[in-house]
Amino acid sequence: MENYKSSFGGEIEEIPNIYVDNFERKDKIAYFLSHAHTDHTVGMYGRVNGENLRINGAKIYMSEETRTILSINHWCYEMTLSDMVEPLKVGMTYSIDLPDGKSLEVTLIPVTHMIGAVMFLFKTEEKTVLYTGDFIMEQEEISSLKKLHDNSGNPLYIDTMYVDATFGHVGYMFFPSRSLCHSEVVNVIKTWLDNENCGVALFHNCQYGYEDMHKEIYRKLGIKLFTGNLQMLNTYRQLYGPANVLTEDSDSKIHICKNRQPDMSHKGCGVSTGNDRRYLNIYVTVTQGAFFRPGQPAIIRKTENSLHMCYPTHCSKSQRLLY
Ligand SMILES: [Zn+2]
Ligand SMILES: [Zn+2]
Repeated sequence: MENYKSSFGGEIEEIPNIYVDNFERKDKIAYFLSHAHTDHTVGMYGRVNGENLRINGAKIYMSEETRTILSINHWCYEMTLSDMVEPLKVGMTYSIDLPDGKSLEVTLIPVTHMIGAVMFLFKTEEKTVLYTGDFIMEQEEISSLKKLHDNSGNPLYIDTMYVDATFGHVGYMFFPSRSLCHSEVVNVIKTWLDNENCGVALFHNCQYGYEDMHKEIYRKLGIKLFTGNLQMLNTYRQLYGPANVLTEDSDSKIHICKNRQPDMSHKGCGVSTGNDRRYLNIYVTVTQGAFFRPGQPAIIRKTENSLHMCYPTHCSKSQRLLY
């Protein structure tokens, strides 16, 4: 690899006709969106943006899952974007004709970050460029990714890598692994629910990116998680089908909810029974991981019924340095 760049800004210097994860410039012909978080869709939503992006007959490429998330969660999608969006299958390679007569090969490589998130591996006749978007990947995972290796198993030569640099501060040298987070959160929930008339409330800042944790809680405890957010519920239903682990049944003992007041009863969530439940509040955030060191727990108890958990959504500084 020759170059290492931060991923923000949209421009891929080696492929000037395209823009990635940024829609502020409207003179491109092909846009790529790595995942649905809104810090990557700047300049995309709204009628005026839609009209201006359409002027050059531009296409917006993204994974099928990201397309589903946008179409359910953004009211303007059908009106302003749907005819420009080209959904692509994760793990597949496509050839796209660019207006300068050249063709661009793009491969969507799945990453752990949120459902539908991908890295883009771009190949032109001259250059090979990897755009990571936001991601978490352990060293052993990257060596097993076939799309980043040739047929003999040797790593591909990449001219330039555009890398997620969200947590570049030295305080974020390490994050706990997701598997550690999952086993700790399952244990604290199980222990709390062993007491009578108790419930658990999970709070996370973004709607999406915690799907693995929700699935693991359901897999280990057999309890579906209540959400009052119908868009999120519909998205999960559409993407996961029968494997969906969210429910609109507010009597569930585990809530993903916005009720951040420690002593509230969750009546606002529509709880019809067990209004006097004692809730354990688990606040989930990656920044809780500042100055985390290997060997430490991912969950810290603040009060008897209030826990803070560091849950990684991006690479730590030490993971990124591996690349
Ligand atoms: Zn993101
Ligand atoms: Zn609630």
